[in-house]
Amino acid sequence: MYDIIIIGGGPAGLTAAIYSARSGHKTLLLEGGAFGGQMALTEKIENYPAFPNGVEGVELGRMMREQAENLGAEIKRERAKTISLVEKTVVTRKSSYSAEKLILAMGASPRPLGVKGEKELMGAGVSYCAVCDGGFFKGRTVAIIGGGDTAVHDCEYLSRICEKVYLIHRRDMLRGGEAAFKRINLPNVEFVPNAEAEEFIAENGKLKEILLKDGRVLAADGVFVAVGTLPRSELVADQLHTEDGYIVTDENMKTSVPGVYAVGDIRKKNLRQVVTAAADGAVAASDNI
Ligand code: NAP
Repeated sequence: MYDIIIIGGGPAGLTAAIYSARSGHKTLLLEGGAFGGQMALTEKIENYPAFPNGVEGVELGRMMREQAENLGAEIKRERAKTISLVEKTVVTRKSSYSAEKLILAMGASPRPLGVKGEKELMGAGVSYCAVCDGGFFKGRTVAIIGGGDTAVHDCEYLSRICEKVYLIHRRDMLRGGEAAFKRINLPNVEFVPNAEAEEFIAENGKLKEILLKDGRVLAADGVFVAVGTLPRSELVADQLHTEDGYIVTDENMKTSVPGVYAVGDIRKKNLRQVVTAAADGAVAASDNI
């Protein structure tokens, strides 16, 4: 029996583990994938305080994990299969764990675009992670779809690896405004505004072209979809109050179920950043049930 079980090893979950273990609570953190969560998919994080030259996402995740372990948190690489919020029990393939308090920190995953050919060509030209898959397109032509921070980051990253990068966006303005345009003002980047993909077209089982809704066709060896994220709340969504899949909490991160908290990108909130995820984790771990 633990005092606190945290599900998810991104910045929100790891910070919750740091605060919980440091305050003397018997703490278990379960992570089914990579420590650092979506941070681990980011080459460089430039807006997390105290890193004047930025920090690699993987490295920041590694340091947070080490800090949590040094302070006494138990960390297991196990994926939650079922979660009972009322009983506060988490079942993995290996075991079953119970606690007084649960902190849900499962984060979010990339949202599919939903165009023809997207599912079929996943891993054959269609990707959701530039840092993971960009290397496969060295010296070739790729397109990014989206207009948020992820699309801009991916654009900068891929421009250093690929010969040509299209940034396809459904509007003429990026979410980050003029500052974002400055970042993508690179010799091998072409902004394609007011454009939406209709279909990803393959040749010999690999992406060859992107057909746009206005009939234009762009030749591309790879396409990186960066149109936002979906909350990973599927294991608990029928047990608590959610809106559009995001878990609703109060300002102390309490959900609609007593003793259950939600932190980071899985939570309904305005600003999804590493620093706000970490802050959520600290608040949830410090709140008395
Ligand atoms: P996002 O901010 O939600 O942006 C999604 C983009 O995709 C928007 O430009 C949106 O267009 C576009 N889009 C959505 N659905 C679409 C569709 N069906 N077809 C075409 N385009 C579509 O997502 P994100 O960029 O992944 O960022 C998620 C969060 O992480 C944000 O809070 C972001 O600030 C944060 N983040 C931060 C950093 C960092 O370095 N600090 C890096 C990456 C992400 P519209 O603009 O027209 O709505």
